[in-house]
Amino acid sequence: RGRIVQSTGQWYEVAYAQGDDSQTISCRLPGRFRLEDHKLTNPIAVGDYVHFSRNDDGSGSIEEIEDRQNYLIRESTHHKEGNQILVSNIDCAYVVQSIKKPNIKRGFLDRFLVTCEAYQIPARIILNKMDLAEDKDKPHIDNLAELYDSLGYNVLLTSIKDEESLERLKEDLQDKTSVFVGPSGVGKTSLLNHIEPSINHKVGAVSDYNEKGVHTTTFAKLLPLQLGGYLVDTPGLREFGLVNIEPWELSLFFPEMLEFRQQCKFNNCTHSHEPGCGVMEAFEEGHIHPDRYDSYLNILDSLEND
Ligand code: GDP
Ligand code: ZN
Repeated sequence: RGRIVQSTGQWYEVAYAQGDDSQTISCRLPGRFRLEDHKLTNPIAVGDYVHFSRNDDGSGSIEEIEDRQNYLIRESTHHKEGNQILVSNIDCAYVVQSIKKPNIKRGFLDRFLVTCEAYQIPARIILNKMDLAEDKDKPHIDNLAELYDSLGYNVLLTSIKDEESLERLKEDLQDKTSVFVGPSGVGKTSLLNHIEPSINHKVGAVSDYNEKGVHTTTFAKLLPLQLGGYLVDTPGLREFGLVNIEPWELSLFFPEMLEFRQQCKFNNCTHSHEPGCGVMEAFEEGHIHPDRYDSYLNILDSLEND
């Protein structure tokens, strides 16, 4: 049994344990594996757990693919093509934002949290560049951290200049498969390099686009961590959309709305204009944070105009 850590589309690098060591073997996927879900373009993905057999030439053949706990997909830009699974079996997605340079983008944050909920991927939030925070910024940061913590999203305050904060992050990453997402410039690469110096990615590099702004790499990679576990190195993470969510479903992915949406008069209520809406009532009574409700309405709008 092993795990796909990298793929070229033809070959799959499978990592497996040998004693206390980890080995990799290049495997092929026999043609008998067909796509069961026609909305997807790849039957197998980085992150999948597989069973393989060995061939005489030292390569391997994948014999079995285990069920996925979850996965992230990249939506196809062409209507007729299916969606590509980027990576599977993720223990935690970290939405990385920076306090300053660039400022926190609440829209991105809430949108990505919805995506994680929809894909059943546990999510946490990293607020990086804490060294840039001035005293006057602290109440705002504390309020944000308190709000998201109360919603069940752990908030970590980090700075690459604060060793202690990086140690706390490492403890969280140990023995897990984690992915960092967030707008460019917030410090994802810098954090990665501090966590695992051997990775040594270029800071400030726009690595996943060529000069014409087209993707140069399409496949995700699992980077093994010395402390145990993997970090997902994924090009084009910013594009994650909200795939297959109907407007009336959106509130299912706002944890604070769950108990109130049951009180809505209509079961396809979008909590935006309907009479007898439990969510709007809860909002008016102060049980739902105005910024989160605002995000909800923004995302709803984008779903309805899709
Ligand atoms: P990415 O695009 O999210 O991967 O961001 P990078 O890691 O490339 O970082 C963008 C810029 O922010 C670089 O100039 C980093 O040196 C800087 N940076 C990253 N983390 C921190 C931090 O904690 N504090 C400060 N002051 N700068 C940081
Ligand atoms: Zn409602």
